[in-house]
Amino acid sequence: MMPKQPYSADDVAGNLADVKTRIDAVMLAQGLDRPRPLIIAVSKRQSADHIRRALEAGHRHFGENKVQEAQDKWPALLRDYPDARLHLIGHLQSNKAADAVALFDVIESLDRPKLAHAIAKALGQHNKQPSLFIQVNTGDEPQKSGVALDELDDFIALCRDDLELPITGLMCLPPVDDDPALHFALLAKLAQRHHLPQLSMGMSGDFELAALMGASQVRVGTAIFGPRPD
Ligand SMILES: *Cc1c(COP(=O)(O)O)cnc(C)c1O
Repeated sequence: MMPKQPYSADDVAGNLADVKTRIDAVMLAQGLDRPRPLIIAVSKRQSADHIRRALEAGHRHFGENKVQEAQDKWPALLRDYPDARLHLIGHLQSNKAADAVALFDVIESLDRPKLAHAIAKALGQHNKQPSLFIQVNTGDEPQKSGVALDELDDFIALCRDDLELPITGLMCLPPVDDDPALHFALLAKLAQRHHLPQLSMGMSGDFELAALMGASQVRVGTAIFGPRPD
């Protein structure tokens, strides 16, 4: 399962087809007949014109990591492709919660009580109801976003029971130097224990592994769009 490198920016449609083929191949080889995970095309730092190539190829699920950047790029794209769906996969400041609720269909980076309260308030003021993933810091890395493992049970209870937030799954971003399989397995176990059906895990380097380990969605940037501009 060596990643195919480098990824070309010239053939977004071909890259998308390739990602699907690679996932289907590993799932078939393991005899898994569940549906292929949803492919979130991570378009952070990519230009609107480049994103259009994926839209023209029929792709509809996209990931962005900054509210402001998404607000700059997506209103025009959504006018042409109103059925496109946006996932927020980056750190969200509480004071941007209302903006995020207004623009995104899925917020995958819910990771602290202050943000949970801000999102709950924003949901009360908007008629949009994005679904929510809790980001888990599976590697317990001090500088990284995500709920600490020993705070997860309480945080899920706060979100679901007290604030009645529509939590549908868990998301993780494994430490770069670790074997991602350990983190995918842990995330799957945590989701199962809390009866959360969805798992957002796997990126360009490890989406096939994530698909095998039960991802309901993979977040793939470079393998679809090519290298990100700086
Ligand atoms: C950038 C990013 C990705 C995609 O990374 P690639 O390696 O380009 O596929 C996935 N998830 C998150 C949270 C990201 O920030």
